[in-house]
Amino acid sequence: MAKFSCTVCDTTYPPDAEIWHCECGGVLEMTDLPAFDRDAIIKEDYTLWRYRHTLCLEKDEHIVSLGEGFTSMLEINIYGVPIHAKAEYMSPTGSYKDRGASVMVSHLNSFDKLRWVVEDSSGNAGASLAAYAASVGLKTRIYVPAEASGPKLSQIAIYGAELHTVEGPRSAAEEAAHEATNKDYYASHVYNPLFLMGLRTFAYEVVEQLGWTVPDNFVFPVGQGTFLLGAYRGFQEMLAAGIIDRMPKFFAVQTRACDPIFQAFRRGFNDVQPLAAGRTVAEGIRITDPPRGRQVLQALRESEGTVLTVTDREVVRAQRAMARLGLFIEPTSAVAVAGLRKLDKMLDDEDVTVMPLTGGGLKAPVAS
Ligand SMILES: [Zn+2]
Repeated sequence: MAKFSCTVCDTTYPPDAEIWHCECGGVLEMTDLPAFDRDAIIKEDYTLWRYRHTLCLEKDEHIVSLGEGFTSMLEINIYGVPIHAKAEYMSPTGSYKDRGASVMVSHLNSFDKLRWVVEDSSGNAGASLAAYAASVGLKTRIYVPAEASGPKLSQIAIYGAELHTVEGPRSAAEEAAHEATNKDYYASHVYNPLFLMGLRTFAYEVVEQLGWTVPDNFVFPVGQGTFLLGAYRGFQEMLAAGIIDRMPKFFAVQTRACDPIFQAFRRGFNDVQPLAAGRTVAEGIRITDPPRGRQVLQALRESEGTVLTVTDREVVRAQRAMARLGLFIEPTSAVAVAGLRKLDKMLDDEDVTVMPLTGGGLKAPVAS
């Protein structure tokens, strides 16, 4: 039976408990999930709900779907590197966050009497939650840093969310949201284990779309690192179920202006030390103290991957290089593309490398 398990003290909680962290303060993960089963896939469903058997939702009537998941995988060549680019920006609200929001809001939809949820976000997660919550009449209160990009703020607002802009660093918005959780449920894309659970579907889709083969490498832009972690968990499950016979390598790319995971990895630390953040065009990954940093570092090391950093200049160039291929992605997403140039030497010519295009270009102003 699936349950929430604390990553620090191993305390467990039932899957319908309305909690977002352990009593000890540790982050939770959903464990004892049903085994991944190829025969249980709903083949005529072209959303992530084709993997419904892994998502622990009791009743179909609670599913909240706007058509997320099963995104296209494009074969491109960028900087001389052949890449399978998974077009997550084609998601209903324009970013991969819809995977987590759809699964989390479906579970919240099964809870009795939940009327309000709160979240803090640099933009994409807030927009995604606001959309899914709006579709079932759930009210949202979203705390965003005042410097979040205009298009993202407009997107959150048009879904009807109550938008609170918070001056100061990204962490100030998180603190404001934590305070609000005294009375309302915290539908956090970072802390909430139901959100993380939805991100695993990315791994399932990649393997299915590659004809049930495992890719060699993954390259992610990393701030909180939850997308990388969710995908990693998905691969672990498929390995346990005998669907694949090895794990891919996971590579994380951060910006030089905000690179706490890079610093901790390089120094051999098990935990991420909070850092002050500089300015960067990649606002979506300007995260100084990722709560799941320990698990992200572990995944990178276990998979024999690494962490790289890139400059804003390289990010802007990468965004433009992708646009010349007809792919308009936001700067945060272009961070992974910029990392490819440096990663090239670590990849074999025959390798299958997958990179998510995490968010669309219309999400942020175009930097020059
Ligand atoms: Zn605990």
